[in-house]
Amino acid sequence: MAAPTTTVEHNPNIPDYEPGDGNTKTFHVDSFRKEWLSRLKQSEYSYKAENEDTFHANFAREMGVSVDLMRELKDVCSTTALHCHSEDQQPDPEVVPDDASLKTLIERKKHQDYKASLKIGKSRHDLYADEQARLFVAIRPESLEHLIPEGEVILTINAYYPATFEKFVYVRPHVTLLLLGSQSLTELRDAICCASDLQVSGELSNTPEMAPDFISKDHFKSAFFFFEGVFYNDMRYPECRDISETTIKWTKANKFPSYRKAKMEDTKFADLEIKVGFPYLYCHQGDCEHVVIITDVRLIHKDDCLDRRLYPLLTHKHRVLMHKCAVCYTFIGRWCTIGDQFAPSNPCLFCDKCFRMLHYDKDGKKLGDFLAYPYVDRGAFS
Ligand SMILES: [Zn+2]
Ligand SMILES: [Zn+2]
Repeated sequence: MAAPTTTVEHNPNIPDYEPGDGNTKTFHVDSFRKEWLSRLKQSEYSYKAENEDTFHANFAREMGVSVDLMRELKDVCSTTALHCHSEDQQPDPEVVPDDASLKTLIERKKHQDYKASLKIGKSRHDLYADEQARLFVAIRPESLEHLIPEGEVILTINAYYPATFEKFVYVRPHVTLLLLGSQSLTELRDAICCASDLQVSGELSNTPEMAPDFISKDHFKSAFFFFEGVFYNDMRYPECRDISETTIKWTKANKFPSYRKAKMEDTKFADLEIKVGFPYLYCHQGDCEHVVIITDVRLIHKDDCLDRRLYPLLTHKHRVLMHKCAVCYTFIGRWCTIGDQFAPSNPCLFCDKCFRMLHYDKDGKKLGDFLAYPYVDRGAFS
């Protein structure tokens, strides 16, 4: 598909929201990739590792120094030569000395003292901060069929949670995904996990076994991305509706810049015209709106994961606390009851097991009077 282009004329009715230096100018992803490839030598983006001696010889030539001087520089500037203690001492790198004068060490000490004052061990958040990124470094597929071609482009995309809670406005939790230029927008859509896709609507206290049949994702499949004045609608299934139509009509009637539309499944990331760092929109389930920011566009490197099947590649996932069952306080809440005589609070959360044990007899007959709604916790993906 040809790259969509939009001309957004200046309209005095529309304030200029765009901050001056928060994002790049609009560019076409594939043209940018080609520009790189025309300027770089193949050896610079090839997966084949360059011989270390050749690398140093080339580097010495480029810097205009002799190979011997290059070797000496390498020894002097090596990280092993960096120490602030005498050779016979081997201090623990975790312990910051009390008389530290380096600003970074002073800040680190402050942070360590603060952590110690909390009297908790290392949290999951600390331990797994870069877990995903670590897992996929330099993975190569066993067969060439799945190997990503050299010179492919990788986009780093942050998909933010909808700001449904006041505190989300400040903490900005998100997932970070890596996508290839040759992947379609639907692959990003399918990789964004959102609790609203799994919501089950309706009061089901009389038929709790019906719950799994009513997931919103299966019923309401429409969604769009909005990049640079173009709505990319997901039209893969017959049930999909063009939910951008209302907005497009409204903009026409109100003399806004004319927005266009295209199909999400027919558009590849390489086809897009985008700005890096600019907040775009992903909308699904009618009004569940996520900000999507492309934070980086670059060529693939031999140390990246080279197996096409593992993309979109999740490299960061915000962990949110789970809301647990009010009875066992062990499992995640799956049911929310209202007006429940057995519950300690109103409304009240139960895991599936406790909910059924407490509210139904051994033949599955409902006991007592209450309303029950299936509940999907936003911590379910953590
Ligand atoms: Zn959502
Ligand atoms: Zn429970």
